[in-house]
Amino acid sequence: MVKELHPQYAFFQGKIISISDAKVDIRTNALQYGTAIFEGIRSYWNEKDKCNYVFRMQDHYKRLLKNSNIMMIDIKYSIEQLCDTTIALLEKESYSEDAYIRPFAYNSGTKIGPKMIGVEQDLFIYSIPLGEYLDLNKPVSACVSSWGRLPDNCIPPRAKISGSYVNSALQKSEALLNGYDEAIVLAANGQHVSEGSAMNLFMVKNGSLITPPVYDDILEGITRDTVIVTAKNELGLETVERPIDRTELYTADELFFCGTGAQVSSIGSVDKRKIGTGAIGVITKKIQALYFKVVKNEIKNYRSWCTRVA
Ligand code: PMP
Repeated sequence: MVKELHPQYAFFQGKIISISDAKVDIRTNALQYGTAIFEGIRSYWNEKDKCNYVFRMQDHYKRLLKNSNIMMIDIKYSIEQLCDTTIALLEKESYSEDAYIRPFAYNSGTKIGPKMIGVEQDLFIYSIPLGEYLDLNKPVSACVSSWGRLPDNCIPPRAKISGSYVNSALQKSEALLNGYDEAIVLAANGQHVSEGSAMNLFMVKNGSLITPPVYDDILEGITRDTVIVTAKNELGLETVERPIDRTELYTADELFFCGTGAQVSSIGSVDKRKIGTGAIGVITKKIQALYFKVVKNEIKNYRSWCTRVA
C-alpha cells in the first residue's frame, strides 16, 4: 500500500504528534452526540512566492471562540496561540499545494449523556490537501432541498456545530441522489432561501448583489464577508442583505455559492430552470477571479488576510 504523503501530523491533546497516533475513545461525548464546534480554513499555494498563505485565519479562530460561548466549550487557547499552532502544523506538513485546516473543539469526555457541562473538553487541529470542492470551471446544478435548515433555537446554524451537519448531509445526499450537484436550503420559516448545504448563496439581479440576511438561519460565512467587502471595494458592487423568496432564484440574472470549501462557484440551474444564460455569469466570473487573487495574496489591500507559511 502506498503511504499517503499528507497529512502526517495533528495537534492533539496539546502537542503536534503523528496523525496516526491522534485517536479518540469510542465513548467520546462529541462522537456520540455531536457536541463540538469546528472551523474550515484554507491555505492557498502561491506558485510565484513558492509558499502557502492561510486565508483569514484570525477571523476563523475569532468565530470559533465566539461560537464556543454558544456551546459552552471552554477553549484554553487564545487566537494567537491557535494561529501559531496552525502555522507550526502547516510548516511541518510543508504542503506545495492548496490545503484545508480543520480545528475542532469538542466534548472529549467519555461520560454518557448529552450535555455541555461537567464533561472534559479539548481541541484538535489537522489539515488535508484540498483542491476544488465544487467544479469551478462550469456552473453547478442545484435543487431546492426538501430538507429545511435548522432554526436558531433548535441547533443554531451560526455556531458551526458538528452535530448540525447531519442537516447538511441529508441535503447534499438528497441532491446527489437526484442527480444535482448541490442543494439550496430554505430557512426554518419555510419561506426564504437560507444557503447551500455547506456554503452561502448570492443572487445577482440588475447588476447588484443580494444575499440572505443573518437572521435567515445561515452560517455567517467568512467568504460571504470577503465577497461583500471585495465586490464593493474593487468592483463597486454593493450587496443588499435581505430575505430571498424561492422563486426569485428562478428569475435571478446570476447565482453563485461561496464558502471556504466551495470558494466561488457559479450555479447554472435550480430545479431544472436555467439561470440567466446557464453559463457562468459575467459578474460571478469577476467575483471568482477577484477572490482567487485575494486569497493568494496578490492584492496589496488584503495582505493582512493572508498569513504566510514559511
Ligand atoms: N454555510 C455553511 C452551512 C457552511 O458549512 C459553510 C462552510 N464553513 C459556509 C456557509 C461558508 O462559510 P465560510 O465562508 O466561513 O467557510
